[in-house]
Amino acid sequence: MTDKTRPRLLTLVIVISLAVLLVFGFLLIRRFSNNHHEQDVEEVQEIVLDDFGFPEGGFLIESEVVRSNQTLSHILSSFSLSPDVIHLIAERMQEVFNPRRIKAGQNYHGYYTNDSVPQLQYFIYEISTLDYLKVGFGDSLLVEKGEKQVTTLEKSASGMITSSLWNTMVDNNLSPELIIRIAEVLAWEVDFHRVQKGDRFKVIFKEDFVGDKSVGVPSVDAVYFVNQGREIYGFHFESDTIQGFFNPEGESLRKVFLKAPLEFGRISSRFSHSRMHPVLKHRRPHYGTDYAAPHGTPILSVGDGVVTQAAYTSGNGNYVRIRHNSVYETQYLHMSRFASGIRPGTKVTQGQVIGYVGATGLATGPHVCFRFWKNGQQVDHLREEFPSADPLPAELHSAFLVIRDSLALELDKIPFREENPV
Ligand SMILES: [Zn+2]
Repeated sequence: MTDKTRPRLLTLVIVISLAVLLVFGFLLIRRFSNNHHEQDVEEVQEIVLDDFGFPEGGFLIESEVVRSNQTLSHILSSFSLSPDVIHLIAERMQEVFNPRRIKAGQNYHGYYTNDSVPQLQYFIYEISTLDYLKVGFGDSLLVEKGEKQVTTLEKSASGMITSSLWNTMVDNNLSPELIIRIAEVLAWEVDFHRVQKGDRFKVIFKEDFVGDKSVGVPSVDAVYFVNQGREIYGFHFESDTIQGFFNPEGESLRKVFLKAPLEFGRISSRFSHSRMHPVLKHRRPHYGTDYAAPHGTPILSVGDGVVTQAAYTSGNGNYVRIRHNSVYETQYLHMSRFASGIRPGTKVTQGQVIGYVGATGLATGPHVCFRFWKNGQQVDHLREEFPSADPLPAELHSAFLVIRDSLALELDKIPFREENPV
């Protein structure tokens, strides 16, 4: 090494040191800024949280089930909490949860510190599949209600009918809610009482999960059904002005019911869970809509269907019940008489006269009490939000075709279980 090279080496060392310092300083600044900005986001991705928002593995957890006749204070005292603390919890709870509504069979959990002397940190009571009560024993007592994290997954399923749609779907581990949704979409196309062996279906839908537990089917996007060799497609389409299920041509899968069973007539009493009965003079539910009209006014079937009952009871008077499809049924009470030919098994068309207004049974004056069933439950047809029965307006057709084609492609990709190598 010569004398000439020494100062150059020194310069090099200084330059390198400065560079190292700069880089290090830069890294420090980055780390610092990470701490304040980006790290929160990263942590959420890295740390797995349990149903109640606690990091997995962060606590020792003891889980129990509420036994019959167990009260909240029984349960809390099993955690060795003092009566004073239990009293305070009960007091603070009033705003978020009524402790008397605690139910046998529900789960509760104690969260303890994960160390040699575990300390109770949180108490969790599961109010329902979604809601829970959280009590925290930090510096100050925390009592709050929380909601579990719901994950929505896009799913698909298929099946071949062996006995009934219900059995086939249950065999395929599909939720009852999905079965009901599919039946509703196809209600006007498929008579599910006559679904036959060899009928097949495919479905694309969204399902909500809490952990790995299914908690609901928020939407069905597309359905394909082969009913006795006939192919039916239903594509869900939604815009600001219209939403419903449409066939590949953009026609609605739904048919409209008449708004009322009378051409003229006024609503005299609406569907109610508690109304003063005009004859009995005490409160009871009124699961129908009354239309007052002159004696003898024709009563019309609100949709195509089959008469299942045409009979008399002391309450209903002369009444007719019609099954429109697997989902909907209607009933018409207090008739003066039936129209000719109306008896169980008679096929009726929308708008067909099935009887005449009267006041038979428990009625104060001539009216028809109109009752509407959806999936076996009485509902207020005036409040039912039906999907659109209108065809798609021309200006939405191209948007629909895009959705239709992508869903059709997805449906095609779903194998039938039988074709699916296990
Ligand atoms: Zn009524």
